[in-house]
Amino acid sequence: MVKFSRELDNNYLLLNKNMNKLSNKVALITGASRGIGRAIAIEFAKAGASVLINYSSDDKGAEETLEEIKKLNGYGAIIKGDIAKYDTCQKIVEEALRLMGKLDILVNNAGISKIGLFMDATEEEINNVINTNLLGAMYLTKHVVNHMVSRKCGNVINISSMWGEVGASCEVLYSSSKGGLNLFTKALAKEIAPSNIRVNCIAPGVINTKMNSFLGEEEKKSLEEEIPLGRFGDSSEIGKLAVFLASEDSSYITGQVIRADGGFV
Ligand code: NAD
Repeated sequence: MVKFSRELDNNYLLLNKNMNKLSNKVALITGASRGIGRAIAIEFAKAGASVLINYSSDDKGAEETLEEIKKLNGYGAIIKGDIAKYDTCQKIVEEALRLMGKLDILVNNAGISKIGLFMDATEEEINNVINTNLLGAMYLTKHVVNHMVSRKCGNVINISSMWGEVGASCEVLYSSSKGGLNLFTKALAKEIAPSNIRVNCIAPGVINTKMNSFLGEEEKKSLEEEIPLGRFGDSSEIGKLAVFLASEDSSYITGQVIRADGGFV
């Protein structure tokens, strides 16, 4: 009985410690209506942050993310908007500041993939991938960083991909956009470190989300066999890493691309 009480106390303390990691912080997360973005939103809410959920079209998904946050007694709001458009990014940031009064953390998570031979890619496909995955993150960061620099604090986390480091056949557009995001992270981190703003990047491997729902059972199995840890990652594993990068636990880390890929590349 005594042992049980002590374990309970320890667990309670641990929970409280995690809850405080991002308390009083306001985070804007793009593409948070599902998948990795939703998982980051949930982990941030568990850590005590107020969360602004951005997405482009899935109203129901965004509502579900907000419901999950409410169930955790967290605080959140939804801001719909296509981050691939410069003016929309400005409006998203204005709305975020109107709702919360400040922004401490930006997570550039929204992204799209395009599988196919580069020589078959259309102008529209090239523009869509680069606009969403690279330019969208730049547009939004530009508007957010103006606010962060004036406050002399802030934290930006970009979600790229392991393919942005090593390149993938039949994912040339995607790999290029994510490689750009990696270098955007490194260069911007150096430029705005004097304003006490950290910029880091998570490069996930294969994560179990709708983005990979096109894979058949056989394809999934053979892909898993290529991953040293023998499985796809879970979105919550990226969410927890994002909490670490957003919190004071990583206070001396900036300009880094951190791979979470089960040892794949
Ligand atoms: P997903 O397709 O499940 O979700 C993508 C999210 O981005 C959705 O909420 C969607 O509404 C949003 N979005 C797309 N275009 C947008 C736009 N123009 N404006 C605003 N929101 C937009 O994808 P996911 O698997 O959760 O991936 C999230 C991020 O992680 C992406 O950047 C992706 O490239 C990256 N990533 C995913 C994997 C993986 O295996 N799933 C691996 C490496 C990197």
